[in-house]
Amino acid sequence: MDFKEKIRVIEDFPQPGVRFKDITTLLKDGKAFQAAIDEMARQVAGKEIDVVVGPEARGFVVGTPLAYALGVGFVPVRKSGKLPGETVEAGYSLEYGKDKLAVHKDAIDPGQKVLIVDDLLATGGTINATLDLVRQLKGEVVGAAFFIELTYLHGRDKLKDVDLFTLIQY
Ligand code: 5GP
Repeated sequence: MDFKEKIRVIEDFPQPGVRFKDITTLLKDGKAFQAAIDEMARQVAGKEIDVVVGPEARGFVVGTPLAYALGVGFVPVRKSGKLPGETVEAGYSLEYGKDKLAVHKDAIDPGQKVLIVDDLLATGGTINATLDLVRQLKGEVVGAAFFIELTYLHGRDKLKDVDLFTLIQY
């Protein structure tokens, strides 16, 4: 399937000069959504995975069906202050802005094999903070999987020691 055909590019969102890749047009198409998740599951099929970890909000949309397809658990990473239990935190800068991410302290057991999932890899800031959280909890990152990679932002360069899986590239 041509996934790019299903993604809408919106000019100048959220700020001038940014060409935002809108995945809502893919998500509302049941066949395309299912094919994308199935293809991501196929890409990581050779990996031993105990748990999928995904940052809010679109990391949930991609990460939870992928975890379900793999038959493993899902751990949400949220913006600081949103999770009810005890957390660890990591700071990061985005393509547009700065923030802090958090995960429950007991969400990952030491040594658990973790696949990190998000909809899109841009500068790599979000995924680096997520990696930081997993490593604070002594999880073993076995890979990171994305629907989309924006190769011109070179997020991949920040993730040299991580196995990367991306479905489509711009
Ligand atoms: P990074 O931290 O790699 O610079 O940015 C990636 C994060 O920002 C992801 O969580 C992703 O959801 C969001 N993001 C940045 N640019 C886009 C975009 O063009 N489309 C979508 N869907 N998400 C984006």
